[in-house]
Amino acid sequence: MDASSSDSKYHVVLFPFMSKGHTIPLLHLARLLLRRPNFIVTVFTTSGNHSFIANSLSDTTAFIIDLPFPQNVPQIPAGVESTDKLPSMSLFAPFALSTKLMQPDFEKAIETLPRVNFMVSDGFLWWTLDSAIKFGFPRLVSFGMSIYSSCLSKVVVEHRLLFGPESDDELITLPQFPWIKVTRNDFDSTFRDSEPSGPHFEFNIATITAAINSYGTIINSFYELEATFADYWNKENGNKTWFVGPLCLADAPRVEHEPRKKPTWIKWLDQKLEQGMSVLYVAFGSQVDISPQQLKEIAIGLKKSKVNFLWVMRAKDPEYGDESELEERIGDRGIIVREWVDQREILIHQSVNGFLSHCGWNSVLESICAGVPILAWPMMADQPLNARMVVEEIKVGLRVETCNGSVRGFVKWEGLKKMVKELMEGETGKQVRKNAEEYGEIAKKAMEEGSGSSWRNLDELVDGLCNPRNT
Ligand code: UDP
Repeated sequence: MDASSSDSKYHVVLFPFMSKGHTIPLLHLARLLLRRPNFIVTVFTTSGNHSFIANSLSDTTAFIIDLPFPQNVPQIPAGVESTDKLPSMSLFAPFALSTKLMQPDFEKAIETLPRVNFMVSDGFLWWTLDSAIKFGFPRLVSFGMSIYSSCLSKVVVEHRLLFGPESDDELITLPQFPWIKVTRNDFDSTFRDSEPSGPHFEFNIATITAAINSYGTIINSFYELEATFADYWNKENGNKTWFVGPLCLADAPRVEHEPRKKPTWIKWLDQKLEQGMSVLYVAFGSQVDISPQQLKEIAIGLKKSKVNFLWVMRAKDPEYGDESELEERIGDRGIIVREWVDQREILIHQSVNGFLSHCGWNSVLESICAGVPILAWPMMADQPLNARMVVEEIKVGLRVETCNGSVRGFVKWEGLKKMVKELMEGETGKQVRKNAEEYGEIAKKAMEEGSGSSWRNLDELVDGLCNPRNT
């Protein structure tokens, strides 16, 4: 792009949704924009999310504006300003719907800013489209999903494919992608209801309508990973997409610590590496609710599999029960961490050879970029579809065995142990590791400055929006 030929500054507003998995990719996008000449970036957030964002962007020139998070929202405890702090994800709809109350403060702040060239806001902040229209700048959407999941969701909704089968686990072939089979259980309840209504449904309609009416969508993925689905989406939809990821590669991973400052878990991984041992990384993202019974079963399965593992739990979840009991269950091959970790730093550690993951889209991408194969254990949202993509489409992972074969079934320790061993030591594990490594290399190429497909897509997007005569 040739923004450098002008002295004027291009101003981009980013407004991430208040959940870690939605915020992190947009912070990476801020870096990518700031690496281009003459860009200024303003990130909107709330006071409760400020420190996370400020820490992440501390070495950049991004501006951060805090808006007050709506107070006295029914069902949402005071002080909760991000989904990972919600007592349960069943409160997602009232939480997300309440963000609309921020619109007047958002618009007051926009009035004071330099002219905005364009905004990228989260799909869940549907109301930001109205503000963009009011102030006359284009709004791009970020949903933080793969285009594979978007295509499958669109196809089953438009063709009402989920309402034929009697059972939630019956396989349904998608006529548009005849090699793909899904079940009703691959979709959240709002998709499974033949006559949906209620707050979550209203929220879905609002977000989709605003997305369709926006300038386009940025996709945190790379074209080479899901070309068939990217082409399908672009053919079937008027609303344009730009593949600009994996955004996690915008940030050089932090690997050098002064020895004193190394987190204990990285020192532990270093030790395993010195001993020539490989490690399974276990983490289920920032927000899924896991039952105490299921946690116990995980602990037994990991212990019995006799692999080394690093298990990151959410810091403050009361459901995780008695720590010493858990530690007794897992034996001495594993460690449990309850702090916020730098997940990418763990995944790229030379000792880490597998990832037991809930298949949040960021985790999938981060694992692929590190060349680490996934043991897929999806739990909610787009995770079951991501797991299908990981296991059946791009074949960079295996799936845990549930006791009844259902996507959402309980996982007993025996099923977990079997698949952990297969991933870490088996022949199919070797094959998916090789595939993950290959995709990891393609991902890096896609993000190469100047020449990568994702870098060029972002160039094309900003050129069109900041230098309209060039398009
Ligand atoms: N993450 C992290 N440290 C943690 C927990 C999570 O860095 O202790 C990051 C992880 O690397 C990923 C994001 O948080 O970038 C979680 O997003 P994902 O889509 O995987 O799952 P979600 O939390 O949205 O379910």
